[in-house]
Amino acid sequence: MNKNLNSTWLTSKPIMSKAGVTVVSLALLITSVCCGVAAENYESKLVAAPTPSSEPPLYTANRQPLVPSPFIKLPTGSIIPRGWLHHQLELEKAGMTGHLEEISKWCKFEGNAWASPEGKGHSAWEELPYWLKGYGDLGYVLKDEEIIGHTRKWIEAVLASQEPDGWFGPRSLKTGLEGKPDLWPHMVMCNVLQSFYEYTGDPRVVPFLTKYFKWLNTRPGNNFGAGYWPKLRFGDNIETAYWIYNRTGEPWLLELAKKIHDNMARWDSGVINWHNVNITQGFREPGIYYQQVHDQKVLQIAEQNYEAVMGTYGQFPGGGFGGDENCRPGFTDPRQGFETCGIVEFMHSFEMLLKISGAPVWADRCEELAFNSLPAAMTPDLKGLHYLTCANQVQLDTTNKAPAIENSGDMFAYSPFEVYRCCQHNVSHGWPYYAEELWLATADRGLCASLYSAIEVSAKVGTGGTVRITEETDYPFNEAINFKITSDGPVRFPLYLRVPGWCSGAKVTLNGKPARVESRQLSYIVLERTWKNGDSIRLDLPMHLALRRWEKNNNAVSVEYGPLAFSLRIGERWDTFGNDKKWPEFQVFPTTAWNYGLAFDEKNPEKSFKLVKKSGLLPPQPFVPENVPIEIRASARKIPAWRQEANGLVGKLQPSPVKSQEPIETVTMIPMGAARLRITSFPVIGNSSDAHEWSASKEPPVSASH
Ligand SMILES: [Zn+2]
Repeated sequence: MNKNLNSTWLTSKPIMSKAGVTVVSLALLITSVCCGVAAENYESKLVAAPTPSSEPPLYTANRQPLVPSPFIKLPTGSIIPRGWLHHQLELEKAGMTGHLEEISKWCKFEGNAWASPEGKGHSAWEELPYWLKGYGDLGYVLKDEEIIGHTRKWIEAVLASQEPDGWFGPRSLKTGLEGKPDLWPHMVMCNVLQSFYEYTGDPRVVPFLTKYFKWLNTRPGNNFGAGYWPKLRFGDNIETAYWIYNRTGEPWLLELAKKIHDNMARWDSGVINWHNVNITQGFREPGIYYQQVHDQKVLQIAEQNYEAVMGTYGQFPGGGFGGDENCRPGFTDPRQGFETCGIVEFMHSFEMLLKISGAPVWADRCEELAFNSLPAAMTPDLKGLHYLTCANQVQLDTTNKAPAIENSGDMFAYSPFEVYRCCQHNVSHGWPYYAEELWLATADRGLCASLYSAIEVSAKVGTGGTVRITEETDYPFNEAINFKITSDGPVRFPLYLRVPGWCSGAKVTLNGKPARVESRQLSYIVLERTWKNGDSIRLDLPMHLALRRWEKNNNAVSVEYGPLAFSLRIGERWDTFGNDKKWPEFQVFPTTAWNYGLAFDEKNPEKSFKLVKKSGLLPPQPFVPENVPIEIRASARKIPAWRQEANGLVGKLQPSPVKSQEPIETVTMIPMGAARLRITSFPVIGNSSDAHEWSASKEPPVSASH
């Protein structure tokens, strides 16, 4: 799947996610597999993805003629998140998403076009569905009756708004594009209703959606190529068409899906639009449509689209790319920004493609964004967010940074308000959707730990009995993951454990004894046996400090440990602004130097880096500098000529190696997700003949007094 990604681990195997990168592992990789005397009965194998069994799946999965699903989403509510992820969800409830009805005018129920039986009123576009999509799922994953009650209020109103022909919601959208319907906001509202059905089983939902799709099916093909946003994002409705089809079997839905595919923007011909959110939603469309056409080449186009974007614009850590608002040729430095909508939509796409393809690389990519970029996009209390998150971002102020950043105006400061109107609503689904995908049912009636987190999951397996699994871990801050099985009696099923691309030598311990398993990066270890109540499994995913070299970005380097990227810890000064005392907005300014290049011996880099793990319990919110459980000490020298520009933006990288006569200092690096100010792509200090002098910026340096 990754043959076009030319990134390499010099001592081991290719990593998954970046094109044009070299990675040097700083430690010898453990490759041996424990082979103690195993008294437990089990079969183990290593697979690339589950293969369907002759028995029908235990959960609603693809019906023929759609391709069989390697992985199947568990019913919403099956997975109860614990640990730090649960805390993010609690913070989300207490933060802006949980209170958006009081913050956002688009979420006011009174007079809202989405809540009116006649579809008349204000706020008739994407904002309300964007918010409700994540807000409802937040309630379902937390099993929070208060949130679910508020969600129901909106959904009852939406269900009551359907016209005899199937249209629902704002009537103005029905003719919103020069007489043609603006179908984009409804794509999002379909997702709201799908989740509501998955959690409640409400019998009105599938007929309601079917009726709307029947209306869609009366539209001429050119309706699916209309408008800027709809035609680029229509893959979302193809996904919903399959979702309904899998529950009703009505074949016209597949004809409609084909009609949509044939008339919408052709993502199967490559990256046909460079708007960051259009990319993060649109690139996957061939992967969705592959399910209907059964052609692996069509599935592969989604991968090619991903590589085409990341190979040029994603040449820095964090899992995102520079698209601030659009990707622009020449704007590939790690100071370019990635929109918060882009972060959550990319994660959603990866979650979909994981289930469709079975390929574990999509889970790796999802974790990379979830751990490194999503937390940094928000304040630690989730009461504010910004529009753009950058790998190198040393000051979050309101100053206009265009044209270096494409969007003008305030893009970096934190706010819960409409200055970031789309992200303000759309960020809601990031953590809840992630929490729903942590475990998946497999095509062969087993279960897969697809994204690692502390959880409890209950699911049907094998011949249909229910098993409960608790997963205890501080992952990604710890490499040990402990599973415990609870069941009423013996139950046979395959248990899939994902081996990430960065992990060599995963080990499994079964009931205290080393299990004989093979391990390979980007695969699944499968343990099949008749599981008993109380069985315990320990999975160790050894993490190593690794240096990644960004050859396409001036030979900069970044430091990684397992799935975590590390950033220079920069002192932060948070200044409030705005007039709302309850919902303050913040600019964040650096209080310590940030202009360091890393100084290390290329032949023995491990001597220049030290991993420091803090003891004690993992703090509930690890994504703040003072709470990080892991730090890295690194040797560095300042580069005096590397400065902020007058608008506060960090200067662009220049080619490494870079000369510096400044004294060696020991600097601290913290996980990127905890660093609201950060340098993550570093110049490399070198004093060899090929080293460069850093040219002072033509821009005057920014004043030190803010
Ligand atoms: Zn946005």
